[in-house]
Amino acid sequence: MAATQNNGNMKEALFKVPDIKFTKLFINGEFVDSVSGKKFETIDPRTGEVFAKVAEGDKEDVDLAVKAAREAFDHGPWPRFPGCERRRLMMKFADLIEENAEELAALDAIDGGKLYGMGKALDIPAAAGTLRYYAGAADKIHGETLKMSRSIQGYTLREPVGVAGMIIPWNFPTSMFFTKVSPALAAGCTIVVKPAEQTPLSALFYAHLAKKAGIPDGVLNVITGFGPTAGAAIASHIDIDKVSFTGSTEVGKLVMKAAADSNLKQVTLELGGKNPLIIFDDADIEMATGLAVFGSLYNKGEVCVASSRIFVQEGIYDEFAKKLVEKVKMTVVGDPFDPSTHQGPQVDKNQYEKILSYIEHGKREGATLLTGGKPCGEKGYYIEPTIFSDVKDSMLIAKDEIFGPVISLLKFKTIEEAIQRANATKYGLAAGIVTKDLNTANTVSRSIRAGVVWINCYLAFDYDIPYGGYKMSGFGRDSGMEALDQYLQTKCVVTPLYDSPWL
Ligand code: ADP
Repeated sequence: MAATQNNGNMKEALFKVPDIKFTKLFINGEFVDSVSGKKFETIDPRTGEVFAKVAEGDKEDVDLAVKAAREAFDHGPWPRFPGCERRRLMMKFADLIEENAEELAALDAIDGGKLYGMGKALDIPAAAGTLRYYAGAADKIHGETLKMSRSIQGYTLREPVGVAGMIIPWNFPTSMFFTKVSPALAAGCTIVVKPAEQTPLSALFYAHLAKKAGIPDGVLNVITGFGPTAGAAIASHIDIDKVSFTGSTEVGKLVMKAAADSNLKQVTLELGGKNPLIIFDDADIEMATGLAVFGSLYNKGEVCVASSRIFVQEGIYDEFAKKLVEKVKMTVVGDPFDPSTHQGPQVDKNQYEKILSYIEHGKREGATLLTGGKPCGEKGYYIEPTIFSDVKDSMLIAKDEIFGPVISLLKFKTIEEAIQRANATKYGLAAGIVTKDLNTANTVSRSIRAGVVWINCYLAFDYDIPYGGYKMSGFGRDSGMEALDQYLQTKCVVTPLYDSPWL
């Protein structure tokens, strides 16, 4: 057996899935039906069954949301508040998130198959933390005094970019929402967000909490709906000044094209990854296998920075593989509400089938299946954590982003070879290095073309770490103070001095 599966007989008392309170679009401070009246079904990945119907926003609804956001930006108080007032309201918003942590974690669990316990302990508190991090910056946004070469004086103003459109993926519905919304709020922007169609519910709850916190109407609007309709309407909207997108590289290209063809709005793209984790002969194998499991299986592998290519140096390759299999076999796959579960169901049928088809590709292309490789459970979208060894760079499983619990082991000999092969991908989102040798760590980290390199750790995030890609993994940064910059623009104000020729 590849991994333990819990039987789903979790005691009812452990957790009750909450009533779904918010299923309508949130425009100008109100929950409203879509103009068409259409709704779409949201599916519980534990069972494959429908559990809620949500308003299906389309272009007309995006138009209404943008109108509200435009009005709130052009004439409303939010961009005109002193920064300390935005900070105060954002802090209140953060408190309300923490007060509702259980219900919010449950929404992401039932919508996206995410672990309830992890959501409650990590994702939801980190959302509040992200808001507080940027709230602390809201009253510290300032320009600089310019040093002129002649008789003029000047300074810069850092002004909010305007109405920001945000298109969010399904793998981290809460974290991605706040990674994008928080710096935009601090900057004084107004916002139209589209959560992914697979995971629309927590975003609507956040809209409700924003209103309760006192964030003025029109500042934060949420349109639930599909990518090619509502998402495309945001990317191409003439009255949106900036769009921030996280998702696939293919859709990222569409978003950038739509932004260019409409009004040249600014674009931030955080796209796919095929991230190398490079483990050297001198690594502590216990630690390295632990990082490989965490880096590859966290959030059922539905992570754009997942360690999806694990390069292991030849001296420890066999021992590493053996230990890794032992560890992976201890993974408990099952109901995300059960505290003993490590890995819940994949987000939806589409993703589930896509992952299984990559596993079949791996087998056909000659990789050695060490464990896993099959669906599990009688219903829902559960997949055994899977390890392939003898993976070659040319195989599809080593090239494509699988976004599932599939680990690929690749053997290497030298540091030069590891660097060359790690960089031989169109992506450049993240990388990891495990070694005790400082020179190796320094050489490799400087040679890898990726937005983040973790040394002797993996998936180590913090509010202050700018996060984003090189190459076809996108550009612009979420997180850190760099993300605040993405929602600001610089205006220079210049005046002549008394002895200036312009006087
Ligand atoms: P994935 O392949 O991981 O599902 P996508 O890139 O398709 O990721 O989706 C990420 C987000 O982009 C979702 O909110 C989705 O609705 C949205 N989206 C999908 N297609 C488009 C599109 N053509 N224009 C704008 N947004 C889109």
